[in-house]
Amino acid sequence: MDVKDIVIIGSGPAGLTAAIYAARANLSPLVFEGLQPGGQLTITTEVENFPGFAHPIEGPALMDAMREQAVRVGATVEMNLVESADLSQRPFKLTLDSGDEVYTKTLIIATGASAKWIGIPSEQALQNRGVSACATCDGFFFRNKDVVVVGGGDTAMEEAIYLSKMCNSVTVIHRRDTLRASKAMADRAIANPKIKFEWNSEVSEIKDVSLNKVTGVVLKNTVDGSFKEISCDGVFVAIGHTPNTKLFIDQLPMDENGYLITNGVKTPVEGCFAAGDVWDTHYRQAITAAGMGCQAAIDAIRYLETS
Ligand code: FAD
Ligand code: NAP
Repeated sequence: MDVKDIVIIGSGPAGLTAAIYAARANLSPLVFEGLQPGGQLTITTEVENFPGFAHPIEGPALMDAMREQAVRVGATVEMNLVESADLSQRPFKLTLDSGDEVYTKTLIIATGASAKWIGIPSEQALQNRGVSACATCDGFFFRNKDVVVVGGGDTAMEEAIYLSKMCNSVTVIHRRDTLRASKAMADRAIANPKIKFEWNSEVSEIKDVSLNKVTGVVLKNTVDGSFKEISCDGVFVAIGHTPNTKLFIDQLPMDENGYLITNGVKTPVEGCFAAGDVWDTHYRQAITAAGMGCQAAIDAIRYLETS
């Protein structure tokens, strides 16, 4: 039986950084890319906060470079989806969508998380043209502009407060008349003079696809069904994320939203590590995911040396 030293699931910043470190330790890591080769950054345009680039770099270009670097130093990157994982046996067993089985002494889970979207056609058409799911990433492009934030949870409040520091105005659009956010976050947002609220409202359309930029949103009142339009330059969707952890249900501990519960990059299963947005509900940045990928690889290398 062919047993790998290190297999990495995921080819976002966490997975590819882990691959670079493991490859440079001569461990010939195998990376499975999944359905989104390069991860979440491949659906964005300019990345301006990843160190090392004096000028903005396009998300897909940054991820192509990371992949090329991983391959150059000795990683194998395969376009395969891991369909199931068995962490109860040693070596760990992974089953791919092709039906092939792969065995590995250590595993790094870097399957990330996916932002939830409202699901209307104009939202998709205007992604990266004024529609974003990350204020820390894109807020800078909306300095002194009017933006809306969709959602009523802690993430929406955090995004609204962050954006209020640079935008002209922030309007939170929530489908109910009470916030889901914790009282502390809600109170801070409500007390912020730059933040207004549109209650009982759903975004039914983002304007203006024909102009290829955001000029406003059409809101549907969830109580009386009436419509109204408000103008804005940007739409931040903050209605939650879905971590890609289905593979590990009943095998690894998860919080109520499905994020892995870890001790840093260590899972409770020895030899199994996790990095990036798959457990990080707080920072959710490419650079932090890359940092955790580095940590996971170093810990996996040490585990192999001592086991
Ligand atoms: P991800 O990037 O989510 O990658 C997960 C990987 O796992 C993917 O390759 C996927 O295909 C793979 N995978 C999942 N399941 C399986 C499976 N079963 N089998 C095999 N592979 C699997 N951050 C910044 O720092 N700066 C920015 O400007 C910025 N802009 C952003 C813009 C947008 C629109 C979004 C959505 C996010 C942005 N972020 C930005 C956040 C950043 O993209 C994430 O924090 C980062 O990508 C997380 O990296 P990750 O490696 O943990 O996971
Ligand atoms: P969340 O708590 O699930 O809230 C999602 C919000 O989006 C809810 O208000 C929900 O409305 C709304 N929503 C969901 N789907 C929608 C749709 N299709 N259209 C319109 N609105 C929709 O998610 P979250 O805010 O990302 O928080 C996730 C977890 O992280 C929570 O436990 C949160 O406390 C935590 N968190 C904490 C902090 C902090 O403490 N600083 C910061 C961020 C996140 P309803 O309310 O009507 O369901």
